[in-house]
Amino acid sequence: MPVDNNNSNDNTNKPSESQRSWVQKYGKSLFLLAATVLLINFGLLPNLGANRRQVPYSQFLEQVQADKVEQATIGREQIRYQLKESATSESEESRSFETIAVPQDQKLVEILRQHNVEFTGSLAETDGGGGGFLGWLFMLLLFFGFWIWLLRRAAAGGGAGGPAAFNVGKSKARIYSEGKTGVKFDDVAGVDEAKAELQEVIDFLKNSQKYTRLGAKFPKGILLIGPPGTGKTLLARAVAGQANVPFFSLSGSEFIELFVGVGASRVRDLFKQAKENAPCIVFIDELDALGKSRGGGNSMIGGTNDEREQTLNQLLNEMDGFEPNIGIILIAATNRPEVLDPALQRPGRFDRQVVVDRPDKIGRKAILEVHVPNVKLADDVDLDKLAIRTPGFSGADLANLVNEAALLAARQDQDTVTMADFNEAIERVIAGLKKKSRVLTDAEKKTVAYHETGHALVGSLIPGAGIVEKISIVPRGVGALGYTLQLPEEDRFLVGEDEIRGRIAIMLAGRSAEELIFGKVSTGASDDIQKATDMAERFVTIYGMSDKLGPIAFDKPQSQFLAGMGSPRRSVSPQVAEAIDQEVKAMVDGAHQMALKILDDNREILAQTAQVLLEEEVLEAQALLEKLEQMQPPKGLDEWLRTGTLPENRDLLPSMN
Ligand code: ADP
Ligand code: MG
Ligand code: ZN
Repeated sequence: MPVDNNNSNDNTNKPSESQRSWVQKYGKSLFLLAATVLLINFGLLPNLGANRRQVPYSQFLEQVQADKVEQATIGREQIRYQLKESATSESEESRSFETIAVPQDQKLVEILRQHNVEFTGSLAETDGGGGGFLGWLFMLLLFFGFWIWLLRRAAAGGGAGGPAAFNVGKSKARIYSEGKTGVKFDDVAGVDEAKAELQEVIDFLKNSQKYTRLGAKFPKGILLIGPPGTGKTLLARAVAGQANVPFFSLSGSEFIELFVGVGASRVRDLFKQAKENAPCIVFIDELDALGKSRGGGNSMIGGTNDEREQTLNQLLNEMDGFEPNIGIILIAATNRPEVLDPALQRPGRFDRQVVVDRPDKIGRKAILEVHVPNVKLADDVDLDKLAIRTPGFSGADLANLVNEAALLAARQDQDTVTMADFNEAIERVIAGLKKKSRVLTDAEKKTVAYHETGHALVGSLIPGAGIVEKISIVPRGVGALGYTLQLPEEDRFLVGEDEIRGRIAIMLAGRSAEELIFGKVSTGASDDIQKATDMAERFVTIYGMSDKLGPIAFDKPQSQFLAGMGSPRRSVSPQVAEAIDQEVKAMVDGAHQMALKILDDNREILAQTAQVLLEEEVLEAQALLEKLEQMQPPKGLDEWLRTGTLPENRDLLPSMN
């Protein structure tokens, strides 16, 4: 069953209890306070202190003419005045009055003079009195109140936010309650190795006593490594679902904020929540966004790097800070393990690594089986065939394929999804994938199959190179299109010159096979060539194994600090430099010739094995052994390995320049 990633959005943040109640308690009074201040400022509650009565202008004039007015302040729009003490009756509460000025009345001043009223003009318009002052006071109070409110809110954030971070620091980790990820192990298919490794985690979460009883420390961190869409996130959720424990997930990029320190506080918060909910799984997706090597080249880009470093340090701290067996297991996922800070992979942190690779044919079928129950299939749909036709597809690509096919069928108002729909969907998906250059055409697949078989065949004839365990043409990781796995039979500390020659021949064998079969070479061998040349150069300049140049070290050992700066080469005369170049070239050329010869002598086996590999995609040691045992070493192989001398009759070798 496909698992809808979006349902994670339903789970809201969990605001802390105290924070909510505080807002509820004080929210209303704050609002009232603000409203009061507004009213005052707009003069709707005027003259709180002065208590003046509004009267008509005519009454004012009458009172002046009756000599009742003692003093008046004349503004442009308002006139305020006070009656004489003798003029007020007992019933009046106040002697102060106010009236609207009548600018047309130009005789007012004259009249006031006649009646001996003390009068003055007014610059500021009117009320100036207590209202303004009170307004200021309220403003001040409001600011004060707001400030206190902020501080309290920050405190309610649980000390985790710290007063400086306020609410921004709250972890956005989403909590799934028990078993709520709803994902079971059966929903993840085709990644059996990864599942086997994670099975142990589930077992630990379920019966931790079994482990703690014996004093075993369980790993704290597990790193899922694999290309996008292979089901890393799905696996992590399945672990939580299967173990029936809460699942906290956070993406590495969510830690990184504009403000330095926010990410760190988020990490603190996440772990605080996790500890309260142990046993549980904490999942950090896209760890590389956060765990990039510190002090990396781009540190000059500025602030964000600071933030990442602080966040990373906090994460490392937290990981060291909890005991191994309290039941928190960290799972992180990345598709770029090479950029991770080495400190993250130290023992006690993410020391377990689980590779989640693109599925092989059988895996792809299993994944399709997980996803097809959601659609109505026609009888002609053959999942085996679909699996064969989809090399390089990741789990997400396959889920997408099923959906595309269903969409196509729906568009044509069909009742069921037919094989034809799937075939068309494959083309669509491949067209999309081609851009990402992950899916091979048939011709490319064939090239890769011969290339890898070449490595394997030559490898089987080189003594000490180990047993060929596996060849695969399932694209792997970011760069490799196929791979040959050859494991040494024992630990080696010293390597003889014969072995180095042999290894170089193995490295060049992939390209040699392409040359022999297709008569042309492809870019796929560039990495092999690089490694072969490097090794040949070390053979000459570091190990001093070249007969012509003798045991002289031409390369200076370099300190870590200077590595990569300038040439490591000792100062040598131009003649010696040329001799080095020639020796390196002769070494690589010889190995190339020998690889070609081995494959040429065993063309039949090469063709057969490559054909099987094309069909099966992966060949394991068992299936390979039968073929490899028939391999005939060419004449002169031993001699060449020991001395580097190629057999006399060179024209027997396929000529390649
Ligand atoms: P990743 O995290 O590795 O990039 P996801 O776990 O997000 O990949 O996978 C995306 C979707 O692809 C999943 O939700 C699932 O539907 C499908 N999928 C990926 N891998 C598998 C798998 N191994 N088995 C079943 N479905 C898978
Ligand atoms: Mg993911
Ligand atoms: Zn190769």
